[in-house]
This record gives sequence, C-alpha cells and structure tokens, in this order.
Amino acid sequence: MKRDYYETLGVPRSAGEKEIKKAFRTLARQIHPDVNKSDPEAESKFKEAAEAYEVLSNPETRATYDRYGHEGLKRGGFQDFSQFSFEDIIRSFFGDAIFGEGMFGGFGFGQPGPAKGQDVAVPVELTLEEAAHGVKREVEFDAVDRCGECEGTGAAPGTTRTTCPACQGAGQVQTVRRTAFGQFVSRGPCRDCRGEGTRVEKPCPECKGRGLVIAHKQIEVEIPAGIAEGQSIRMLEKGSAGDRGGRRGDLYVQVAVKPHDQLVRDDSDLIYHLPLTVVDAAIGARLPVPTLDGEEELEIKPGTQPGEVKVLKGKGMPYLRGRGHGDLKVIMDMMVPRNLSAEQKKLLKEFAATTSEKNYTRDEGLFEKIRAAFR
Ligand SMILES: [Zn+2]
Ligand SMILES: [Zn+2]
Repeated sequence: MKRDYYETLGVPRSAGEKEIKKAFRTLARQIHPDVNKSDPEAESKFKEAAEAYEVLSNPETRATYDRYGHEGLKRGGFQDFSQFSFEDIIRSFFGDAIFGEGMFGGFGFGQPGPAKGQDVAVPVELTLEEAAHGVKREVEFDAVDRCGECEGTGAAPGTTRTTCPACQGAGQVQTVRRTAFGQFVSRGPCRDCRGEGTRVEKPCPECKGRGLVIAHKQIEVEIPAGIAEGQSIRMLEKGSAGDRGGRRGDLYVQVAVKPHDQLVRDDSDLIYHLPLTVVDAAIGARLPVPTLDGEEELEIKPGTQPGEVKVLKGKGMPYLRGRGHGDLKVIMDMMVPRNLSAEQKKLLKEFAATTSEKNYTRDEGLFEKIRAAFR
C-alpha cells in the first residue's frame, strides 16, 4: 500500500507551495541516506519523500492526485520513484533551489563519468535470537568483477587497447539532422566503441574483451542486534564492478526473520501467551516463561485474572538505534479444565458452595491496565 503523499510530508491537504517545500526540505535533511548511514531504510524513505514532493510541488500533478489519487497519476503516466536509483533522483533534483549549494554539498552527484556497477541483493534468514543478539553471517553471491587476466582492459595479455577509428578516441560522435525548423546537431556516444574511445583488437580470452567477469563471492556481514524482517543492510561498493573506473555497486543484505515458536515480535516488544490453569491463577504459582536468553521463572500472584499482562521490562528486542531494549509482555491465557470426572465435579461443587461475593470481586481498573500495557 502506497502512503498518502500529504501524510508522507506531514502537511495538511490545504498546505501551500512554501509549506510543502519547507516540509520536504526538513524531511530530506533528516533522512538523506548519506547523512543517515545507519538507517537501512533511509534510501527508500528518501525516495518516498522525493516522490511526494515531486507530485505535490507541481500544481498539475497535485490536482490529479487530489482528485484521483495514486491510481490517477499512474494512468496519467507518472512513474513511481521506487524504480529509480537514489543517484538518479538526486540528479533530477540537482539544480533545484532546494538542493542548491551547501545543502548536501560534496557528495559528488551529478558528474558524468564511467557507469556505476550494479547493486546486488542477497537474502539472509535469521532466528529471532540472532536478530536480537546480532550475528556475523557469511553470505555468498555472484557479482561482476574486473577481469584479472587483462586487468579490466579487455585486451588479450601482451596487447593494448587502440584508439577507436570511428570517433578518433573522442567516444562521442556528432550527428546533424536537417528538419523543417533548421539544422539540429546532437552528440551521442560512439557505437563502435560504446563511448569508450578505445577498442580491443585482440580480445582477452578470459572475459571475451569485456574486461569484466562473473565472480562468486563470500563476504562476512555483521548483522546488528535489533534488525527486523524486511530491513536490509547496505554494504557500500561490495556489489558489481562498474565499467572502467566506475564505482562499484552496493550489496544489499536483505533480512528475513523466522517466526519463533513461542514469542511473537511486536516492534521492539515481545509477546508471550502464558497458559495458566484456573487453580494456579487462583492460588498463585511460579511458572517458567521463555525469554530470548532462556527460560525465566515468573511469579503468578494469587487472584490473577485472564488477559492480565505482566511486563518484563527490558526483556524484549534491543533497539536498532540507540541503547536499551523493549519489553516482554506476558499475557495470561486462562485454561479452564475439561473432561472432569464425577469426583472432580463433586469437589468443585463443594468448593463453589464455600465461595462468596468476596472471592469474585471485579477489578475495576483491570481493563485500563491491560490497555495501558499495549500503548
Ligand atoms: Zn568510437
Ligand atoms: Zn579479460
């Protein structure tokens, strides 16, 4: 589900041009991936905000969005930003006043140069305990590397690249088109050398002249404590090699967390449903409760009610950012005995005859307490 653009930027639907610009500028500063390297989601958050700004800052697209929503924009040919690379988005905003001098200065975007290598994604599956404590994992993947045989030149060992005759080494060719409106001169990359300006006479046998090979790689990844399902760890320049001298792509380690058989994760908190017999609930007991560090004994007070929540402070998942842990919330699941024998029924009836109103007082604040525990 796509988020509402106004919600993404945190502005009311009536917001003016200036307010929208200001909101995006503030947001972009906070979540810019080059500023916020520790947040694996910074890039997607940034793209989301940039897309919202792109639409809402243009009166035409904004009007379409206001009337027909995301679907209307899509039908009008608007392209989702999720398919663009982060660098493309920065480049398209570059020059706009909001990305003017000094804002993210020095990141080196917008300069043409050799193409950057492909990003590579690799999945990794963790147990809940591993996600809680952090873990080192060896991941394996295939990526493009510079050919070792020709050191990336593509020319057979002992030979060198030669100047491309078609463009005389410029890498670009000029084409002149004559139209009814006059003569247009355009420049484009040379097809013979694919814009490189040099050619290989005798291709390297290892890489067939490409200068690049597919390599199988192993790399150790440090997965931080507190990571959650769906998050990725970006490892800068660990992806595929770029074209001659181009920056390497990045490696994205995509985390999946296996469900735990007893504990359920709720953000930084954990939830455990404790099966509790009516007898234990009535007279109290000490019962084992699973935690991330093994079992722990929990004291059940006499008169514990169904649905009551006992909070084990700091026994939840660690926060991914900052210090500390969430809580482990133990919910009392009452078990009423079944399949009673005649003898057991008799005993319960005798017991019931001894009870009075004072044994069944209603705890007025109970539901408030339960609600508070989940806030
Ligand atoms: Zn050429
Ligand atoms: Zn080679």
